[in-house]
Amino acid sequence: MKEGESALIAKKLRLLMELRGAGIGDTRVLAAIEKTPREIFVPPSFRDRAYENVALPIGQGQTVSQPFIVALMTEKLDLGERHNVFEIGTGSGYQTAVLARLARRVFTMERHRALLREAEKRFAELRLSNIVARLGDGTKGWREQPPFDRILVTAAARGIPEALKEGLAPGGILVVPVGKERRDQRLMRITRNAQGFVAEDLGPVHFVPLVAGPPRPGGP
Ligand code: SAH
Repeated sequence: MKEGESALIAKKLRLLMELRGAGIGDTRVLAAIEKTPREIFVPPSFRDRAYENVALPIGQGQTVSQPFIVALMTEKLDLGERHNVFEIGTGSGYQTAVLARLARRVFTMERHRALLREAEKRFAELRLSNIVARLGDGTKGWREQPPFDRILVTAAARGIPEALKEGLAPGGILVVPVGKERRDQRLMRITRNAQGFVAEDLGPVHFVPLVAGPPRPGGP
């Protein structure tokens, strides 16, 4: 066992209790979080804080989401083991790894090359072979793959992205944080049924912005 490993396990168990207490009731989601070592998704200097229920910096001005938000979004996707999922905003790859435990295949897209490379190394280390990761602007969709059973956006969109809605299979679910200002973002769930789309507001959230196009030097 690596130094500090048993302390991390104790912290992880405490976090799982906290998530349960905060209303995460889906035992499959809790099991997926238990199996996913968040400490390998954060910079080494944050390793001992990996199981605090907070967002942590991952470089390029981005963050790995708070565990409660990862659990909530995963639960609200209502994943089945036959589902194909499209995730926009790979970041550290932590949310991707949690999704990969519950779905058939996860297609994940990230616009920062350095973050994508690191995430791909982590997927290989964990032998998560059902993840397909690609560099690009996720707002445009994943050209040759739709429709998707589930779509998750892990950065805040200014409005509900039409292209993503259209990429949903019948019965499909899109979970996306929406809002122009960080302080008034809402987590939205869009379900596609025979009549069209049903939108639900799942409450307030705080995400880094979804940015269209490739990164520019000195830009976001
Ligand atoms: N799910 C991530 C959270 C990362 S933060 C995790 O668990 O670590 C959101 C990520 O979305 C950032 O890495 C950011 O670079 C990325 N992003 C923002 N706009 C994007 C876009 N249009 N296409 C793809 N990725 C985008």
